[in-house]
Amino acid sequence: MSRIEIVGLSQQFKGHRAVDDVDLTVEDGDFVVLLGPSGCGKTTLLRMIAGLLDPTSGRIRIDGKDVTHLPAKKRNLAMVFQSYALYPHLSVEKNLAFPLNVLKMSQEKKRQRVHEAATALGLEDLLQRKPRELSGGQRQRVAVGRALVREPGAYLMDEPLSNLDARLRTNTRQELTELHDRLAATFVYVTHDQVEAMTMATKIVVLNAGRVEQIGTPQQIYDAPASVFVAGFVGSPPMNLVDGELSAHDGFVQADAIGTTARLWPGSCERHPATIGFRAEHLRIADAATGGLRVDGLVHQVENLGSEQIVYVKVGELMVVATCGREVPVVRGERFVAGVAAKNLHLFDRATGRRMEWVEDPIPLLAGA
Ligand code: ATP
Repeated sequence: MSRIEIVGLSQQFKGHRAVDDVDLTVEDGDFVVLLGPSGCGKTTLLRMIAGLLDPTSGRIRIDGKDVTHLPAKKRNLAMVFQSYALYPHLSVEKNLAFPLNVLKMSQEKKRQRVHEAATALGLEDLLQRKPRELSGGQRQRVAVGRALVREPGAYLMDEPLSNLDARLRTNTRQELTELHDRLAATFVYVTHDQVEAMTMATKIVVLNAGRVEQIGTPQQIYDAPASVFVAGFVGSPPMNLVDGELSAHDGFVQADAIGTTARLWPGSCERHPATIGFRAEHLRIADAATGGLRVDGLVHQVENLGSEQIVYVKVGELMVVATCGREVPVVRGERFVAGVAAKNLHLFDRATGRRMEWVEDPIPLLAGA
């Protein structure tokens, strides 16, 4: 399976930079998800990797070989599109065999490849059907199967699940993850759905306006978002982000926000405008008096999700979101007091939007990551 290296890759459309100076290494066996809002350049980046679009600048290497201007068919990559692109007049078997027609290969070998792909994807009983006789999920599997038969160096997928209903999407997500594990294959997968990214990726690339905001494992992206953008984009409900200020008092760094003060850690720092982030699940009633950030407001709305409740709390003009167990009595219009432990606060430089990390002695200061 292939390793893909992307260096300084850009794509300019009529003066507009759809992809802007992207550096990315997809290791052999990675499941990389390109994640970002509509129009951030995911598809454009994938199409450049596939060889369907010539980059304006930058290089692409596959297994050490420069393929920047090599035609798509010579890159040994397979692409699976959102609109399965199956041939309606051909049976599933013939659809699966189609990509092999251009390859010099014996009929026996072709049959074997089709059989292997059909078995891997549970399509054995559907081989004689036409695409119109299949469900959306089955069609999607045939589309993946067509990529599989070619035994490519890597699989490139552009929102392949977006036409499926919610339940089927969950099943197919698991199937894709299993397939990836079984094949030990390299996947590059485009989506704007953070749940797909969190559940399937070994590595997530968060894109914003053509630029890379952060590259990391799903856990790194969730636990330590590198910017306000990532913090607000990944996670449901989205991270609470409030304006605040960092300063030092009595040998402690502290954060002032939403009318309260959180003691962070021993040390000193210059007074600094910051954006302070905290996840809904870290807002706990039990932590209301632990020295972290205190949220004191009125319950504006409660959403009961069955397993838990999402509580919207009005603090002055701000709306803060908390999740809590169903056993917690929360009543609309009543007071809600909770706290976020200092270790669960995320600090971002207000001017740059980048994450700030606490740098330990010998020079205690706050540094932009
Ligand atoms: P989506 O999730 O909506 O598919 P995306 O992140 O995949 O979005 P792209 O399709 O890569 O985004 O598009 C990135 C930007 O480039 C958009 O602003 C889009 O309008 C623009 N764009 C894409 N293709 C072209 C083109 N052929 N000519 C001009 N502009 C284009």
